[in-house]
Amino acid sequence: MDLVLRNVRLVDGDAVVIADIGVADGRIAAVEQGLNADAQEMDLEGRFAVGGFVESHIHLDKACILDRCKTEEGTLDEAIREVSAAKKAFTVEDIRARAIRTLEKCILQGTTRMRAHLEVDPVIGIKSIEAVLPLVAEYGWAIDLEICVFPQEGLLNNPGTDELMVEALKRGAHVVGGCPYTDSNPLGQIERIFEMAREFDVDIDFHLDFDTNPEGMTVGDVCELTEKHGYGGRVAIGHVSKLSALAPNQLAEISKRLANAGVAVTVLPSTDLYLMGADRDHDIVRGVAPVHRLIEDGVNCALSTNNVLNPFTPFGDCSMIRMANLYANIGQIGTGAGLRMCLDMVTHRPAKLMRLDDYGIAVGNPADIVILDCPSGVAAVQELAVPLYGFKRGRRTFTREPAQLHRP
Ligand SMILES: [Zn+2]
Repeated sequence: MDLVLRNVRLVDGDAVVIADIGVADGRIAAVEQGLNADAQEMDLEGRFAVGGFVESHIHLDKACILDRCKTEEGTLDEAIREVSAAKKAFTVEDIRARAIRTLEKCILQGTTRMRAHLEVDPVIGIKSIEAVLPLVAEYGWAIDLEICVFPQEGLLNNPGTDELMVEALKRGAHVVGGCPYTDSNPLGQIERIFEMAREFDVDIDFHLDFDTNPEGMTVGDVCELTEKHGYGGRVAIGHVSKLSALAPNQLAEISKRLANAGVAVTVLPSTDLYLMGADRDHDIVRGVAPVHRLIEDGVNCALSTNNVLNPFTPFGDCSMIRMANLYANIGQIGTGAGLRMCLDMVTHRPAKLMRLDDYGIAVGNPADIVILDCPSGVAAVQELAVPLYGFKRGRRTFTREPAQLHRP
């Protein structure tokens, strides 16, 4: 063994147990009580561990631009307009610097795996890909980063974008994404994205149905194409805030459709809360899809940060535990089982969405371990537990000292 983490609390089914974790050659070699090993040791004093947070939907390329954008209306239109204008001045160096600032914040918050959504269009070309793709190797010591390329400003309506999407996939983008609600032909875009996915044999991650009008949903089209192309388990859809406007029987129908097709849903609660309902002056619609209802029907659902310090979301500490807590607040979730589900939506569920079959604290998996300053997963969500130490493949990646009182 190279390292033994003593007295760590871990989830064991619905229970929490205390055990020692042994690490050898970057992998978890043992999880047992009273582990007998001669190695460097660390006593975690009963603190709770997760396999790191999994951020399946975050925009590194347009993070940290509030110094150059207005946030007066708090609407999706304003966000798209402001970012579109700011993008004209983006350079590879500028995108790289902001992406690094955001990525390092994520690492310090305990995120060990990530899918970054990067946009291409004829104005910025593939600068986002050029800026962020090298970070996959440069930050491999702390995080597994995959890249999803998508057309934020539309595909079929925006000549030249298709070629840039293909170029990004050729350069190594791992996933193809879409944003049909900004396209003049939403269904046409969805069909073209499936075509690209099949050509490059990559998974799909759409931004979808992002308003609170229950009419005009495209989720059914995505399910149909997923089934037609045998893509079950390889398609995710983000936002889907229209789901928040459905009556229970309509929601149940779509929920079963998603479960059967194998389409996963990522809710982006901070962005949805900020941008939805801005047309109302009272009794504001919150527009967050009730994914805990979908989970009951067998849909895989995740929570993610989406945007950081830009007009889509002028907030952001890159904390996934905050997303879990935020969703518990919105979903009015207070039971132990419900709070554990919220934690799952920032750990195991997004790992499944990204098909990371080596994720989690189990013998044989990479030793990706994050220690939270709390005694259980339920407490982690209730108390917004602070990530104290992170390990990637057995090597420590960050340390945050526990807070101390200095009594008189
Ligand atoms: Zn997004």
